[in-house]
Amino acid sequence: MGAAEYEERLEAFVGRELTPLTPGQDPVNQPMIRHWTEAMGDTSPVYTDEAAARATGRPGVVAPASMVQAWTMRGYAATTAPAPGRRGFDELVALLDEGGYTSVVATDSELEFARELVPGDHVGVREVVESISPEKKTGLGVGRFVTTMKTYRDQNDEVVATQRWRTLRFCPAPAQAASDGPRPPRPRPALNRDNAFWFEAAREHRLVIQRCVSCETLRHPPGPCCPRCGSFAWDTVRASGRGHVYSFTINHHPRHPAFDYPLVVAVVELAEGTRLITGLTGVAPEDVTIDMPVVLDWLDADPDLSLPVFRPVASEDR
Ligand code: ZN
Repeated sequence: MGAAEYEERLEAFVGRELTPLTPGQDPVNQPMIRHWTEAMGDTSPVYTDEAAARATGRPGVVAPASMVQAWTMRGYAATTAPAPGRRGFDELVALLDEGGYTSVVATDSELEFARELVPGDHVGVREVVESISPEKKTGLGVGRFVTTMKTYRDQNDEVVATQRWRTLRFCPAPAQAASDGPRPPRPRPALNRDNAFWFEAAREHRLVIQRCVSCETLRHPPGPCCPRCGSFAWDTVRASGRGHVYSFTINHHPRHPAFDYPLVVAVVELAEGTRLITGLTGVAPEDVTIDMPVVLDWLDADPDLSLPVFRPVASEDR
């Protein structure tokens, strides 16, 4: 299929109905208004209090204007059954997929309201394609902006609101290959006068813990002042190197080319009681568990940077 033919097929969608007028599952009603305003934290009484609403000149309670879309959403039904009458929508998505535009992100929504909805109104929506842009380069990849117009009508076929809805359908940009060129060095720690001693010890493969001279409380990460007694006097003790996994996460994104992924990032609680954020080594991500006993190892990242990492306790370490 040629590019020109593809453009023509896209162009043929402009003006086409994606979703025929489809009534909402329920009429506008007070319980849904109450749930919505509670969830949104909107405390205006015109949505829930008849007297307060009348005091503003309204005939009674009204629904929040921006709830218009909620009245036409299919809710959980949408997860179990295809939407009725959405053939046009499905065809457009298939055509965009064919062009490689497989990802979607909503970009903006312009709502205009003709009148306030009141309990008992029954709203339906119809969606028509307004425009499909030429291919554009975006930060997410090349794509096309698809703009549709949703028209909301009440039980008397009067327009109550319109919504211009724009999405970007894009070809996801390929991830930067980790093997392109030499691997860059790890990011440097941000050294300062309060933490340099810790990284200097690490370069000598010593894991140290800062200790308050006044009250002997251990602390990590390093800091100038004891959080318990306020003393600025400190020294260090050398950690045993034993601990357990207090918590962990498996990091997939964003990727830095100096690291291998998936990357296990753990909070290890040392036998001495302090915790540090560290890497785990010698264990598959799926095998890491909370409370897993671990023991200190060293990662010599480059001549200037050695960092403590931890590996699971092997039988010979017990
Ligand atoms: Zn202290």
